[in-house]
Amino acid sequence: MSDTSSPVPAERSALVLFSGGQDSATCLAWALDRYDRVETVGFDYGQRHHVEMQARERIRGGMATALPDAAARLGEDFVIDLSGYGAIAESALTADRAIEMEASGLPSTFVPGRNLVFLTVASALAYRRGHGVLVGGMCETDYSGYPDCRRETIDAMQTTLALGLATPLEIATPLMQLDKAQTWALAERLGGRALTALIEEDSHTCYRGERGERHSWGYGCGHCPACELRARGHAAWKASLPA
Ligand code: ZN
Repeated sequence: MSDTSSPVPAERSALVLFSGGQDSATCLAWALDRYDRVETVGFDYGQRHHVEMQARERIRGGMATALPDAAARLGEDFVIDLSGYGAIAESALTADRAIEMEASGLPSTFVPGRNLVFLTVASALAYRRGHGVLVGGMCETDYSGYPDCRRETIDAMQTTLALGLATPLEIATPLMQLDKAQTWALAERLGGRALTALIEEDSHTCYRGERGERHSWGYGCGHCPACELRARGHAAWKASLPA
């Protein structure tokens, strides 16, 4: 499907949208378990916290230990500068604004059109790199009302991108119907305690970018919506485990 030759057929080759958070770290493990060739892409769009970029490197490096059989399938990492988009999409994540609910009913962390932009840019890279699958951590179960996380939106994007590129393209969203506790359980099924420990220690979710305090679920301020969601899900997952 592309102008980069690869011995792996496109439908066996995946590009993971990888931010270094819990969800995309789990997606990376899922892809390594499922596809013959996996690469990662991250987007720098002027987030407040370059801590996200550091988390990406630690998680990728840790996969060799957590998933020894799959690690050889992990290929290159790409970071794409989307600071121009970040300037348009200014919100609590990309500017110094409080994290709160707005009159629209969406949290101020909503970056308008973010996943549409990410998927479009990722599809161009996938085309060039010979990937027939994009993997993203979008989730409509405990998403914060983000309309671009819904499977209906993703289905429309999949159709649009495949038409626009004139090539088959699948957008896989393995977390779409999972809550955060089920996402932890999926990581455990994929990589056991080694993987869940890696995600606890090195993935980053906190909207405020804090890594001062280590909780049972990882680092973070403990109070922002992302930390609260992560902490609740981790507690529910732990409670579901046999004593
Ligand atoms: Zn936080």
